[in-house]
This record gives sequence, C-alpha cells and structure tokens, in this order.
Amino acid sequence: MNGHEQDARVVDVALPVPLRQSYRYLVPTDMAALYPGMRVRVPFGHHQHIGLVTQTDRSLATGLKSVLECLDKKSIVDASLMTLLQWLATYYHTPIGEVMELALPVLLRRGKSTQPQAQSGCQLTPAGCTADPDTLTRAPRQRQLLQLLHAAGEHRLLAPVLCQHYPAWKIPARALAQRGLVERISALPEPVPAAPIRPPLTMLNPAQQQVVTSIRTAGSGYRAHVLDGVTGSGKTEVYLALTRDQLQQGRQVLLLVPEISLTPQLVERFQQQFDQRVQVTHSALSQAQRLQVWRLAQSGQAQVILGTRSAVFSPMPKLGLIVVDEEHDPSFKQQEGCLYHGRDVAVMRARILDIPVLLGSATPSLQSLANVRARRYQLHKLTKRAGMASLPGVQLLDISGLPTRDGITRPLLEAIARCLDRGEQCLLFLNRRGFAPVLLCGNCRWVAECRYCNARLTYHHARQQLHCHHCGARQTLPKHCPDCNSANLQPVGEGTERLQTTLEKQFPGQRVLRVDRDSVRHQGDFEQLREQITSGQAQILVGTQMLAKGHDFPNVTLVGIVNSDSSLYSVDYRATEQLAQQCIQVAGRAGRADKPGRVLIQTRFPEHPLFQAICQHDYAACADQLLEQRQQARFPPFMHFALLRADALQPELPNRFLGMAKELGSGILSGRSEQRVVLFDPAPAPMLRRASRYRMQLLAQSRQRGALQEFLRQWVQQLEKSKLGRKLRWSLDVDPVTLF
Ligand code: ADP
Ligand code: ZN
Ligand code: ZN
Repeated sequence: MNGHEQDARVVDVALPVPLRQSYRYLVPTDMAALYPGMRVRVPFGHHQHIGLVTQTDRSLATGLKSVLECLDKKSIVDASLMTLLQWLATYYHTPIGEVMELALPVLLRRGKSTQPQAQSGCQLTPAGCTADPDTLTRAPRQRQLLQLLHAAGEHRLLAPVLCQHYPAWKIPARALAQRGLVERISALPEPVPAAPIRPPLTMLNPAQQQVVTSIRTAGSGYRAHVLDGVTGSGKTEVYLALTRDQLQQGRQVLLLVPEISLTPQLVERFQQQFDQRVQVTHSALSQAQRLQVWRLAQSGQAQVILGTRSAVFSPMPKLGLIVVDEEHDPSFKQQEGCLYHGRDVAVMRARILDIPVLLGSATPSLQSLANVRARRYQLHKLTKRAGMASLPGVQLLDISGLPTRDGITRPLLEAIARCLDRGEQCLLFLNRRGFAPVLLCGNCRWVAECRYCNARLTYHHARQQLHCHHCGARQTLPKHCPDCNSANLQPVGEGTERLQTTLEKQFPGQRVLRVDRDSVRHQGDFEQLREQITSGQAQILVGTQMLAKGHDFPNVTLVGIVNSDSSLYSVDYRATEQLAQQCIQVAGRAGRADKPGRVLIQTRFPEHPLFQAICQHDYAACADQLLEQRQQARFPPFMHFALLRADALQPELPNRFLGMAKELGSGILSGRSEQRVVLFDPAPAPMLRRASRYRMQLLAQSRQRGALQEFLRQWVQQLEKSKLGRKLRWSLDVDPVTLF
C-alpha cells in the first residue's frame, strides 16, 4: 500500500457488459481507499452494476460518475490473479468484464459477502446440561437430539452437522426449546482442524520415484513439465507425491481434470490421502456450494482444489503447484464466452506465480510435444505399467474383407464370446451415440435431415425419436417417408444404442451397459454404472469416448474399437490427433491387474501408418507422424491460428461482415513491409447452417504469435466499431481447437 494508491480518486472498473473496455468512476472523498480486486457498485446507464476495480489512479477528472458503494474491505482477487485475467482479456481479445466473471462465483458477482455466513443451530441450556435424556422415553427424537448435544463439544451443534444426523432436526429442537432444555443459536462455523497428513498409501516404484525426484530438482520456480506416462503407469501417484510435498510446506495445489464425473477414482484417491483438505468443484455444484469452495480456497483451508477447467481461476493465495491431468483433452477448451484453453491458462498462471506446472497424459497433445522439442517444456516418461500389468496386444481387423453383423466382424464377436467364457469383461468403443446415424427411405432414398442444420438426424430407438446432435432438435419418428409415403424406413449405420441391442441379442443372458451422453446425464449416473461394472453385474460395456477417460476396470481384458475411420479423413485437422489419442486411451483400458489384455481395431484402412503405430503402442511414433504432417501443411503447433466466426439468421449477413473484416484486415496489413500475418478469404463453416443460423468464418494465421496478436488487437478494435457487427453474432477464437 503506498501513498500513490491511497490517494486514488479515479478507478477503472470492469463491468459485466460485452464491450472491450473498462469504465472510469470517481471515488467519493468520504469513501475508504479502493484497490484493484475490490468489488464496487456503480451507476451504468439507467442501471447499477457490480464490477471489479482493475486500476486506480489519482489523476483529477471531471464529468465522471461516482462509485456508489464499495463491497469489500480488501481485494478479493489478488494481484497475480488480476494479472492473469488481464492477460486473458488481451490474449483472447475478450471484454474485460466477461473475463472478470470467470474469477468470481455468481453469488459474489451479485454482491454476496465473501465472509462465511452464520448458520443456525442449537445449544443446551444449563437445565438441558443436567437433564437426563432417558427420561424422554415417549419422545425418541427429542431424546436422540439431547444425546447428540450432550456428546457435542460446548454442547452445541450447527445445521450442517445436525442435518447429517437428522434432516428434520428442527422439530424436536422446537419441542426441547419449549421444555427450556435447548436454545436456538446462530453462529459462524468453526474451521475444522486438519488431521495430520497421512503417510503415503503406496510406495513409488523406481520409475515414478525418478520422475518425482527430477521434478523436485527442477525447483519451486516456474517450469512446465510434461509427464508422458502410458495408461496405468501410475501418473496419479506422481501427482499425489508432489502434492504431499506442497502441503507439507503449507502450500496449495490446483489439480485440473477434463470431467469430474468421469474421474471418481482420482477424486477418491486424493480424498483418501488428504481428507477434507481436498475440495472438488465442478458444474453440478449449486451456486452456494461454489461460493463455499471459493471461500475455502481463498482462506487456505482447502489446500487442494480439484476441478474442471474453470477451477483454474480459484483464489489460492499459497498456490505452489498446478497439475493438469489428461492435458490433451479437448474439453479444456471453453466453447463460449471467453474462448480460453484451461491448460494454456494454467501454464500462464504458473508463469505469473513463478511456480511449476505439470501436464500429465498417456497421449500428450502435439502442442505440448512441440514445446518439449523447443525445450520450453521438460519431458518425463513412465513407459511401463505400475505393478504387474503389461500392455495389451493390439490387432487390426480389416472390415472390408470380413463378414459383419450390425458393424461387428465375426473375429470380434468370437473374441467377445471367448472373453465372456473366461468370466472376464469386454469394452466396445464407438464414438457415435444413438441407434443409427442415418434414417433412409428404402424406396426413394430420402434421408431424414435436421430442419435447422445442414446435418442428418440420428435415430434413437428407445425413445422412437430423431435427434439432431448439433442443435438438440428432436422429433417423433415418422411412420412413412414424407416424400413418397413408403413405410420402408431403414436405420443405416451403427450407434452405441444399436451396438448394445446387437450384443444383447448375440449374447443372451449377459448384461450390456451403455456409457454415453444419453445414459450418463446426471451427476452420479456414471458412478452407478461404474459400480455395476466393478461388481461384475455387467459383462459387456459399450460406450463413446466417455469410456476412454482414465478409469480402471481391472476385469476388462478385451477392448474392441468398432469404427473410427471417419476421423481419418475428416475435414477437421485435429481429428487424426484425437483418433490416435482415443485409440491409445481406450486400448489402455484392457488388461490392467494380473490379466493380460487384448485390443481389436476394426478399420477399412489397416495399412494406414497411424494404425501401425497404434499397434505398437507407440504414441511417440504417432505423434511424430502427425507433427510431420502438421509442419508440412503449416498447421498448429507450427503456425498460430485465429478464427473469426460470424453467424446470423440471414444468410447474407455473415458473408458481408466477413467481407468487410477481410478488407479492414488487409488495410491493417498493407501498411507493413513484411507479410507476417496471412488473412484468408471468408469461407462457409463446414456445417454452414446450425440451429437455423448461417455460419461463416475467416482464418488469420502467422508463424509469430506476437505478430498475430498485434494484428488481432488492431483488427478487433476496428471490428468493434462497425455497425454491421452489431447486427449479427461474431467471435474471435484464438488458438481454435477445431475449425468446424
Ligand atoms: P495412470 O493415472 O497413469 O493411468 P494410475 O495412477 O491410475 O495410472 O495407476 C494405475 C494402477 O496402478 C492403479 O491401480 C494404482 O493403484 C497402481 N499403482 C500405481 N503406482 C503404483 C505403485 N507404485 N505400486 C503399486 N501399485 C501402483
Ligand atoms: Zn421415400
Ligand atoms: Zn439441428
């Protein structure tokens, strides 16, 4: 705190409005000093908004409106997090107000206090302390509550604990109060004293120990580490050991995962080891629960925050290490609002704080591998499975030459039968949900298409509906072809639902479980399915990439990859990277404990070099091939991309807007001697129409991130001013994960 800041009479405030600027306000003379990271209430047009102070200065100004109220006694977003947010606004060209929203739970944005709130409860009166619960024989609930209070410290309990024992505790509490034995109280919850940290539950093996040692040796300053460890190699144990180091020094750890509901085992292992020091945050929490986690992180009571991408903004004053598990997973990329990449933000946060960051995966992203090659990141490898398990054998099945049944070849069916005979489980991977991706009229070749998108409708048999997987539209199954009125409508192709039905018919008496977005929709759904798998109630698993993510099913010895060919020749440049990652991740689910595993991949392109590398479990070879292709095609990570997207209900608007954007952009670039940024022509998105909107896009690319950023800054400034831009929806995606 220096005199300069104390004298601040003018503040810049980030407000929740979609404009790329912050707003200046005057600080009334009778208001206490304001600092960056405090919330203020300010007038805005005819409304009031709560915003976050981003800067203060003491320059005199006239004609400014005044801050109405300051909501905090001190900054609630610390300086390093403010720096990170400013970086996000600049790098992703997102309005500062929108970025600030990422750092604060909704309730804080609405003005709720950051301090813990008093909770209701009850306490024994002096008469209650001497009363004998056993005299209350005719009121068993009152007796139970009295007993609980007798046993409690200070003879008092607060609502959260009372609810655990007895959700309807208020009824007997009222009766006991009438007897004068109990009084109702309201008090702040007391922090739970942390138990001593448990000794490690597992001894590291020499390979794990070596990784831990070399990460420790690299020091406590900024350093990006990539942990490339085959599935089952024990990456989690490495995370646990490094986390323990931090906790012993009184520091905090942030652990990011792609999806909490799919990684219950990781959560369990962290909680087993570090108890209530671990707090989990994800989208299924209520707003009040999120605020609670925010408070615990902020106060340091929560030493480990485990969460999905938005957790990267958790307030952690003593953060000493960030871990990103499954760092290759595309779900780290935010798809709306500020289009940030959780992994990249994690690395930036580590740089700002000068602490290490660890990116773990069995299939590291090409981006991270390129950073390793450039010596910006340090690579660590775990090449063998922990314990006894060995990697499964992989074999390719050429679909074109084999008899198939609903997409499953005879050899795969036979392998499933043998696996079941041995009393083991098998897993079939098919990255397409629903019954069939196409509904075709056998008479006139009509195909069911979405009314709102350039896409086919997927047939869902159980619901007897057609669904669009792009806009969510649903309709009942037509009984007749709308064109020729024929009743000969045929589902063509396979989805997970059909695969499940086929297998149920083929293997009567065996339970077939399906794991996809249709069967796992609520928090806890996946845990239930997992329970049925681990307890052996189900023998066959059918699922989408949800099944590829970090689970441990020890009795699964056979994995079948039913069809992934569509990704080989997709318009999306990242499709092959994702295909390789998914195949290797799913293959990693076979044969963990003491039973050897086997993987069968069905394909029409068995000679494709990517499959050859997958057969060898050689992800490094896959990655080398893919990096080579990317370099030749001048794609990321060898080139930096930014995609300007525009969409509107009227087909001509996006085209006009992007035409103008191209002109503005060319104008900016023409003033330069060297052409370091290349601007393409506006082009229709691969799916031109989605959810009734026409979508166009324009790609800007450069070898130099700095040059691209400088161009984007000027470009966005001009686009912001355009009137045309207000008539449609547009967004800039920096480092897009897909050009779709
Ligand atoms: P990954 O995250 O790399 O896929 P995990 O950390 O889940 O691997 O470990 C895979 C399995 O190996 C788990 O069941 C785990 O308990 C076991 N494991 C890991 N490290 C060790 C070790 N040092 N000693 C014994 N078992 C281990
Ligand atoms: Zn027809
Ligand atoms: Zn649609």
